[in-house]
Amino acid sequence: MQQIQSLIRAVPDFPKPGVVFRDITPLLADAGGFARCIDALAEPWQGSGVQAVCGIESRGFIFGAALAQKLHAGFVPLRKPNKLPPPVVSVDYQLEYGVDQLQARNDALRPGERTLIVDDVLATGGTLAAARALVEQLGARLVGASVVIELAALQGRSRWPDGTPLHGLLRY
Ligand code: IMP
Repeated sequence: MQQIQSLIRAVPDFPKPGVVFRDITPLLADAGGFARCIDALAEPWQGSGVQAVCGIESRGFIFGAALAQKLHAGFVPLRKPNKLPPPVVSVDYQLEYGVDQLQARNDALRPGERTLIVDDVLATGGTLAAARALVEQLGARLVGASVVIELAALQGRSRWPDGTPLHGLLRY
């Protein structure tokens, strides 16, 4: 885990003053580190019968697609607005300033399909909560969620109710 952590770069004052941005691109560029990261992300879900992995645009696509392969599951992209052809289902969520939206094809998941959500970073938890609402709107069965990095001080986990498993590989 220490090797994975050493491949994540802290960038102070990006994208604005006072924010420390966690840059995962050095991890992606390191073949061994990226492979170990995907192994570690997969570990808690082995044997849990995950059928679909939903990755959140855009860095969630990278980890989610690799994880889906590892778990022998399909991959479903949860996208920013106006990227997917209709018909779509949408969930709005609050950003610090303004509103954003996640969308999925309205037939992206089958009713009851055992589904895992993946993203790179859990910060305030709004994005993951929106992804969860989308999965539930599609009638799938949410098995849990995994993120590579959990920014614990922002308490995003508090927006993830009812004990559904949420795994953070690295905590800051
Ligand atoms: P939240 O909705 O506040 O939890 O923010 C999570 C989303 O913001 C994720 O989709 C991340 O990709 C992105 N994000 C927030 N902080 C960082 C960071 O430090 N590095 C990379 N992405 C971040």
